[in-house]
Amino acid sequence: MSFSKKNNKKSNSSKSLPSSVNPNAAQQFLRKKKKERSVEDFVKGIKKGDRTILSQAITLVESTRPSDQIKTQRIIEDCLPYSGNSIRVGITGIPGVGKSTFIEALGQHVIAQKRKVAVLAIDPSSSVTKGSILGDKTRMNDLSLEKNAFIRPSPAGRSLGGVARKTRETILLCEAAGFETVFVETVGVGQSETAVHSMVDFFLLLLVPGAGDELQGIKRGIVEMADILAVNKADGDQLDAAKNARKEYRNALHLMPLKESGVNPKVLTCSAIEQTGIGEIWKLILENQRLTKKNQFFYKKRKEQSLFWLHEQIGNGLKDFFYKNEKIKTRLEEIEREVLEGKRNSFSAADELLNMFLGK
Ligand code: GDP
Repeated sequence: MSFSKKNNKKSNSSKSLPSSVNPNAAQQFLRKKKKERSVEDFVKGIKKGDRTILSQAITLVESTRPSDQIKTQRIIEDCLPYSGNSIRVGITGIPGVGKSTFIEALGQHVIAQKRKVAVLAIDPSSSVTKGSILGDKTRMNDLSLEKNAFIRPSPAGRSLGGVARKTRETILLCEAAGFETVFVETVGVGQSETAVHSMVDFFLLLLVPGAGDELQGIKRGIVEMADILAVNKADGDQLDAAKNARKEYRNALHLMPLKESGVNPKVLTCSAIEQTGIGEIWKLILENQRLTKKNQFFYKKRKEQSLFWLHEQIGNGLKDFFYKNEKIKTRLEEIEREVLEGKRNSFSAADELLNMFLGK
């Protein structure tokens, strides 16, 4: 979406109404203006754990309006000193493995330990096709009724980078609102795991029984990222298959190098439906946090992640500037044609555009 400077100015301006609006729109405009919260109100509400205000702040994070983005940044900066005090857990697995059922079970377990849980999602499919793998179906019904749970679906966005950034900012707000457990769910089918990996402390991969095929179906890098591999659906007539899968994954993990965290990945079975193995997984997560805090890896990783996002944001910002530049847009079309027709070499063509952008 693009916003002209003119529109932008209007939305930033004082309470005067644009002259050519119809009365209904005018009413709406005034109502909206009245309701708009200040940065201070947002921060105060978030710190109090007010879920309505937290939700509205996240909507602001997800907005593409430049004026909202400026406000978002101020809210996040002010919340930053109150954030970070949580355990951030990434949960991934192919569609149908049981992610929502599992998160529902784990979430309830964690709430019973008197912790507050926020569940966020990164769904790359929703940003590309508008359809969502994580599902428009009503998910985590019971968990969503808990007052100590906060569930937010994946933000829509044009790019994975954009969606990931919004999720990362949402994590910070949830933490400032007192959610000391944050689950970030993603579909185990592609690059979104890398994005999630760079915003969580701990990564859990859910698997289905029937390991042989599965091990090949899931990208190797994803298995390597995991701190826990849990073979779900270990119940009924799938119990034996699940146990076999556990054995196979354990064998496969032996071949992998020691993790940088210094803590070996664990493989176990669970049943989200029968709620078995869930408490054990939570214990392992806490144990991993304890050990990695002790050996400092936990803090090192968080620092590295902050730097990663700094550079991501610089990269994305520069790209945005570049591609929005009118001169570049026109010339890029011509150059793309030339490259496709084999008249230009991609590298020299890119150099020409970059030099043009830099006014060289
Ligand atoms: P998601 O797509 O990964 O979020 O998976 P869902 O949570 O929607 O679950 C997909 C299907 O697997 C549903 O029909 C669930 O009822 C079922 N399912 C989830 N967990 C279990 C489990 O532990 N055991 C069994 N037998 N079925 C499960």
